[in-house]
Amino acid sequence: MADPEQLESIRRGVRALCQEFDEQYWLGLDTSRDYPTKFVSALTREGYLAALIPEEYGGSGLGLREACAILEEISFSGGHPGACHAQMYVMGSVLRHGSEAQKQQYLPKIASGELRMQSFGVTEPSTGTDTTSLKTSARRDGDQYIINGQKVWISRVQHSDLMLLLARTKPKHESTRKTDGLSTFIVDLNQAVGNGLTVRPIDSMINHHSCELFFDDLSIPAENLLGQEHNGFRVVMDGMNAERILIAAECIGDGRFFVDKAVKYASEREVFGRAIGQNQGVQFPIARCHTAIQAADLMVEKAADLFDQGQSCGPEANMSKMLASEASWNAADMCMEVHGGFAFAREYHIERKFRETRLYRTAPISTNFILSYIAEHVLGLPRSF
Ligand SMILES: Cc1cc2nc3c(=O)[nH]c(=O)nc-3n(C[C@H](O)[C@H](O)[C@H](O)COP(=O)(O)OP(=O)(O)OC[C@H]3O[C@@H](n4cnc5c(N)ncnc54)[C@H](O)[C@@H]3O)c2cc1C
Repeated sequence: MADPEQLESIRRGVRALCQEFDEQYWLGLDTSRDYPTKFVSALTREGYLAALIPEEYGGSGLGLREACAILEEISFSGGHPGACHAQMYVMGSVLRHGSEAQKQQYLPKIASGELRMQSFGVTEPSTGTDTTSLKTSARRDGDQYIINGQKVWISRVQHSDLMLLLARTKPKHESTRKTDGLSTFIVDLNQAVGNGLTVRPIDSMINHHSCELFFDDLSIPAENLLGQEHNGFRVVMDGMNAERILIAAECIGDGRFFVDKAVKYASEREVFGRAIGQNQGVQFPIARCHTAIQAADLMVEKAADLFDQGQSCGPEANMSKMLASEASWNAADMCMEVHGGFAFAREYHIERKFRETRLYRTAPISTNFILSYIAEHVLGLPRSF
C-alpha cells in the first residue's frame, strides 16, 4: 500500500515543478505544435519519469499509485502529460518481459534520460481496435526480422529513441488462438527512420505528436524481440492495465482542473448583480462533477493498489479509465458552460484542456470496448465479437 506521507511529498514536488511550466507555456506549445522538451527534461531530471523503474536499474522504484499522483498533478496544473506519459507504461513491458541483458541495456539509460522510450506501435489503419487482426509483419531472416506494414496514430515517435512494436510473426490462419502469432519488438528509432521506416505526422485536434508509420523492409536485430516469439500480445497486454490506470489518473487531474476553474469563475463573475455561482443552476453541475471525480478517483486508487500488489486488476483498470474519462469529459463541458462565451477564448486555457481530455474517451481504448470487456469478462454475457 502506498505511504500517504510519501504520496503527499511526491505531489508537492510535482506541483512545485509544474509551477515553472504554467498554462501560458502549454498554450504556447499548443499553438506552435512544439514538443515540451524543457518540461520533459525537468521531469526526467527529477526522476519522475523513472518512477516505475526499480532502483537496481537506476529508477525511483515507486509504485503505480505514486506514478498516478505524478500524472494527476501535471494534468491538474494545466499541463498535458500525454507528451510523455507512455514512458512509464511502455518501459514496464521491458521490465516484466525483457531478458536480463535487455533490462541492463535499456532501463538505466531510460531512467537517466539518455534514452527515451515513449512510443508504442499497435494501432493500424485497416484494423483499428481489432488488434489481434493487425497485419504489419515481422519475418525472421537469419539474425534479423524484416518488418513490413503500416501503423497509425503512433504518438511521440519523433521525440523518442525507442519504440515498442507489435507485429505479426505467424499468419492469422495458422494461429491457434486470436492472440497467438503476434510478437513484440524494441525498435531503435534513430537507426530505423530513413532505413525502412518513414514517419508522417498527423495534423490533429490536440498537440499529441501522433504519426503514421510506413515500414518497408525495415531490418531489426532478432535480439530486439521482447518476450517469446508469437506471444507478443501478452507482453503488451500486461502494460495496457498500467496504461489505463495512469490515464485514468490524468483524467482525475483534468477533472479537478475544470472544477477548480469553474468554482473560481462562478465565485467571481457577476451577472444580474450577483455571482453566477450563487445560482443553483450553476452550482449543481459543478457539485455533480466534483462528486463524480471523487468517486472515479476511488476506483483509480483501487486499481492502482491491486496492480502494485501484483493482483489481477483488468476489471478495475478498465472501469477506472471509463469512469475517470467520463467524469473529466463532463467536467470539461460543465466548465465551458460556466465560463459562457469566455470559455472559447484561448487565454482562459479551458478549450485546450477540453480538447485534450476528450481523447481519453477514445484512446487508448474506447468506452464501447470497456463496456464490452465488462459485459463479457466480468458479467459473463455472451461474446459479441
Ligand atoms: C491522439 C491519439 C493518439 C493515439 N496514440 C496511439 C499510440 O501511441 N499508439 C497506438 O498504438 N495507438 C494510438 N492511438 C490509437 C487509438 O488507440 C485508437 O484510435 C483507438 O483504439 C480506437 O481505434 P480506431 O481509431 O481504429 O477506432 P475503430 O476501431 O475503427 O472504432 C471506431 C468506433 O467504433 C466503435 N466500435 C468498433 N467496433 C465496435 C464493436 N464491435 N462494438 C461496439 N463499438 C465498436 C469504437 O468503440 C469506436 O468508437 C491514438 C489515437 C489518437 C486519436
